[in-house]
Amino acid sequence: MTEESLNIHTIARMQFDQALTYIPDITTWNGFAEWLIAPEKIVSVTLPVVMDSGAVRTFKGYRVLHNTARGPGKGGIRFHPSVDEDEVKALAAWMTWKCALAGIPFGGAKGGVACDPSTLSVDEKRRITRRLVAALGDNIGPHTDIPAPDLYTDSQTMAWVFDTYTMLHTGSNTRPVVTGKPLDIGGIVGRSTATARGVFFCTEHFLSLGGVPGLSGVKGARVAIQGYGNAGRHAATIFRDNGATVIAVSDTKGSVVAEQGVDLAVVSAHKDATGSVAGAKGTKTMSPTDVLELECDILIPAAIETQITSKNAAKVKARLVVEAANGPTTPAADVILADRGIPVLPDILANAGGVVVSYFEWVQNLQNEEWDEERVDDGLRRRMFRSTEAVIAQRVALQAGLAQSRARWAASHPDAPPLREPDYRIAATAVAVSRIKATAAERGVWP
Ligand code: NAD
Repeated sequence: MTEESLNIHTIARMQFDQALTYIPDITTWNGFAEWLIAPEKIVSVTLPVVMDSGAVRTFKGYRVLHNTARGPGKGGIRFHPSVDEDEVKALAAWMTWKCALAGIPFGGAKGGVACDPSTLSVDEKRRITRRLVAALGDNIGPHTDIPAPDLYTDSQTMAWVFDTYTMLHTGSNTRPVVTGKPLDIGGIVGRSTATARGVFFCTEHFLSLGGVPGLSGVKGARVAIQGYGNAGRHAATIFRDNGATVIAVSDTKGSVVAEQGVDLAVVSAHKDATGSVAGAKGTKTMSPTDVLELECDILIPAAIETQITSKNAAKVKARLVVEAANGPTTPAADVILADRGIPVLPDILANAGGVVVSYFEWVQNLQNEEWDEERVDDGLRRRMFRSTEAVIAQRVALQAGLAQSRARWAASHPDAPPLREPDYRIAATAVAVSRIKATAAERGVWP
């Protein structure tokens, strides 16, 4: 058996191609599919940065604008050793699908710097950020491409992005150039918890609509969470506050498990003091990936890509997987989980809360207004409910057309196995791609 690819650019392309097999009007539309998957613009920059030691180190930075058919690019900036052009291209494409599915007027983008944030001081991160923004120049802008936080970047990083861009663009309202800012420079209330709240709304609504037989809501559910950063830490609190028992959380150093429920205050204090959840009082510490294989109702991968793969998908014992991270489940793992009857609420649906509230921040900034918490939370809930319903309905429609899809597939791929039942990732991608097609047609972008 050939080893599965863990290159997320390859994975994003596989997911796209797979979704297209169920929606033939896209593949037959005069070259549209090839245009849609290709990034509109790839910027790669080289950043010389003075380190605290006085030595100068050179970092590679990237910004990819994937598609702007529905509006300006939107997507985070991450600091991580794995950042390269392929990774950023994949993440930018996922942002295009995510924004379309969430029904917000943005296309997809993403950026990052290849670095190990755990070895950098705050001053070094500030200098890297400023140099990145200066090097990107007008490749970002309030109406062209709007960054946000992602892996190992936060509101402080976004404040530096805003400040550097503003120094280079005086005399105009530059607040909408970046979202996820601190409150007093135009940030929006609830942005830091938005991704996790969106994950919660999506899960709760999916369960209330009968997505997992015998599990009608988050209340009483046993939840395991991989990753204890922005997405994972807030998700743990929100699920617990809504009646779930969080039986495990994890980070790069380990998983901590407590069958009766992890004391999140103790774990958070331990992480703040030591840098990791591992060894927190009242918990059993296991390896970082053990969290994925625990017996639970809801598993939330909220760390990084390609965590549930062909190697461990058969060991997942959750009744539902909800992707707070981008790309945590590989295509091979999707098939294994589907065969085992474990639904996966995909990243482009489940973790859209961050970009939805980023959109609210952008609107607030354009109007120089201040939204209140109720308006933000209400708007987020309505949008997450709506997109969850759209994905469920699309899956039903794809299932109804499955016999035709299978016949088409068999005719063009006589030696391939039959098309499998459409899952929620296929349905979510189909909703997004169809919406982009409709916009491109209306705008007359396409002949
Ligand atoms: P973060 O930097 O705040 O936290 C990342 C967490 O994951 C940390 O606890 C880290 O220790 C843990 N981690 C990293 N590698 C790990 C590994 N190999 N095993 C176990 N744990 C590991 O990042 P974040 O903003 O919470 O982002 C997490 C994921 O959610 C990413 O995939 C990101 O793209 C996605 N996401 C984030 C947002 C957002 O608004 N922050 C929005 C949408 C999607």
